[in-house]
Amino acid sequence: MPIATASPYTPLTEIAVSQLRGVGKQTQIQLARLNLYTAEDLLFHLPLRYQDRRKLTPLNQLFTGMECLVEGQVQQLHVHRTGRRSITCQLNSTQGYLTLRFFHLSGHLQQQLRTPKNIRCFGEIRMGIHGLEMVHPEIQIVTQTTELPQQLTPIYPTTEGLHQSRLQHCIQQVLELLAKIPDDFYEILPKKIISLFQLGSLKDALLTLHQPKNFQELTQSCGKSPSPLARLAIEEWMAHHLSLLQLRAETKKQKAQPLFAQTELLTQFIKQLPFQLTHAQQRAFKDIEKDLATTQPMLRLIQGDVGSGKTLVAALTALLAVDNQQQVALMAPTEILAEQLFLQFHRWFVPLNIPIVWLTGKIKGQQRTATLEKIASGEAKMIVGTHALFQETVLYKSLSLIIIDEQHRFGVEQRLSLRKKGADIQNLPHQLMMTATPIPRTLAMALYVDLDVSVIDELPPGRQPITTLVMPETRRAELMERIKKICAEGKQVYWVCTLIEASDTLTYETANHTYEQLQRTLPQLRIGLIHGQLKSPQKAEIMEAFKVGSIDLLVSTTVIEVGVDVPNAICMIIENSERLGLAQLHQLRGRVGRGKDASYCILLYQIPLSFVGKQRLGFLKESSDGFYLAEKDLELRGAGEILGTRQTGELAFRVAELARDQALLPLAKQGAEILLAEFPEHTKALIRRWLGYKQAYLLA
Ligand code: ADP
Ligand code: MG
Repeated sequence: MPIATASPYTPLTEIAVSQLRGVGKQTQIQLARLNLYTAEDLLFHLPLRYQDRRKLTPLNQLFTGMECLVEGQVQQLHVHRTGRRSITCQLNSTQGYLTLRFFHLSGHLQQQLRTPKNIRCFGEIRMGIHGLEMVHPEIQIVTQTTELPQQLTPIYPTTEGLHQSRLQHCIQQVLELLAKIPDDFYEILPKKIISLFQLGSLKDALLTLHQPKNFQELTQSCGKSPSPLARLAIEEWMAHHLSLLQLRAETKKQKAQPLFAQTELLTQFIKQLPFQLTHAQQRAFKDIEKDLATTQPMLRLIQGDVGSGKTLVAALTALLAVDNQQQVALMAPTEILAEQLFLQFHRWFVPLNIPIVWLTGKIKGQQRTATLEKIASGEAKMIVGTHALFQETVLYKSLSLIIIDEQHRFGVEQRLSLRKKGADIQNLPHQLMMTATPIPRTLAMALYVDLDVSVIDELPPGRQPITTLVMPETRRAELMERIKKICAEGKQVYWVCTLIEASDTLTYETANHTYEQLQRTLPQLRIGLIHGQLKSPQKAEIMEAFKVGSIDLLVSTTVIEVGVDVPNAICMIIENSERLGLAQLHQLRGRVGRGKDASYCILLYQIPLSFVGKQRLGFLKESSDGFYLAEKDLELRGAGEILGTRQTGELAFRVAELARDQALLPLAKQGAEILLAEFPEHTKALIRRWLGYKQAYLLA
């Protein structure tokens, strides 16, 4: 059924893109690449930005960088065949002239430019050799009566080979269809929610977003109703929230092996620790014990600032599983962290005769085969590693508990694939996740809908506060004296080099340069260098040397960011600290202040320091509360950056923006809960609309 004959009442989900005018096989493939299969998908493919072609800019009012529509007559056409082949001409009007430049010599284009007509050009103004010019403008031949568009022109996210104008043409057809549909025909949300939140019409919001008359219209609320952007953001968040709630419900429906203490193992382990558990650790572990005692899989996240002792809580949990003759898989985001954890668990578990192995991508050959066998036979009880733990070739005998350290480094998809992995086994494993990135409450609300959360909000006693100093790079020499003094007292120092550009090699070079320089300046010290390009046995060796104290000063890239624990290291120097976010600096700083001695963190910066940079380092100096710093980071930089690049995909909402629309999250949460409880039949369509096929697949 071609779209022209589709009844206006055909749901847009049932109109395939191939029914639109001008969509052949090729376009269909391109649209599929953007996950666009139906008219509804197109409708929710929202503009990235808008161009303003509503008015002509006079040729004497142009400036570089502006994107505008101009009109005039073509004169002085030149075709340059030598040097870089190009066409230039002049656009003239009574107000002035502008050079147009094209870097291809198409006959059609030359034809268009030769006919002495008025043309309109849209493009960006830049400074050329002979004054202002427009390179590769879009051109349109016009007459006196050609009208200007009344609306802003939407620019959509597109894919290679799919021209913006074709995409616009497709979406335009869907909008025409939408315009004929009665207002509420298209609504998935029940009336109850619409009136509760005073949501305006979805149809109007969509029509506005695709073709706004002006920029204000997008964010302006109409009476008590939210703006078109907010209207959609609430709905999108509801869908996101529902998908996670549903995942949770699916997981909770499955069976898990209940785990509770069988012997004295746990009490004995706790008894022999050189310290007492903090109250917060006890509380978190109580939550876990309660979860594990049931036949429902646990889904719990432990949030606790760096150094709050999460690893120990993980160990207690693991012991419960082992006490039930079950296997535990502990996953860390990087090789270096996996090794650290392995060494820690090795120290704890070997005296208790608990067989422990470790597995990362770099373990190969015979060693790998032997490890895989131990895992498959059930001989290995505690298994530590990276995501290699969840490859297809790894078969577990009786996996009942999965622990994920530094969970925020893994995306939602990875989290989900783990659950899938568990599902082939009779019982689904319990899951414990840990994160040291304090997530502001609003963000946590959006991200961890599917998890129960325990917070460890107390550091072990006796920790010395860390003194943070902020100083310009130019005072580097003074630092050398301080380092010498610290090391002379048998203490150790970290020197962290940050990423100059998004490239491993470059950071390595910076770190290497600093390393050589420090070796020359401080010949009496034993200096080590660690960076991401080293092989993991080498990294482990260096970390071990630092841990046992045979390295005084460790120069590193940010690989030591999380999890590394050397209580004798009491000073950390961070170079170019202005380049890092608050959350990351806070993480790094958490590597010191782990012992009984007063500790320092010295933030070096390059002059001049920007205003935001100054503010950011100032916050760090004034506070050691990770949650407070995370809130500030969110204000300063937006959500994506707090969570690091890995997480941005997960946070790539279509309309919603965490920093801008935070206030809407509680509404979305409430709405999602009402939907699930009272209108469960609406949830699937809403998730499909906003999260598309990918999510539908994950939920299947
Ligand atoms: P994180 O929460 O950052 O993962 P760790 O688990 O690495 O923190 O713990 C940091 C340090 O605190 C470790 O040296 C650990 O042995 C120690 N620690 C953990 N719990 C306690 C406690 N209750 N009392 C004293 N020290 C503790
Ligand atoms: Mg840790």
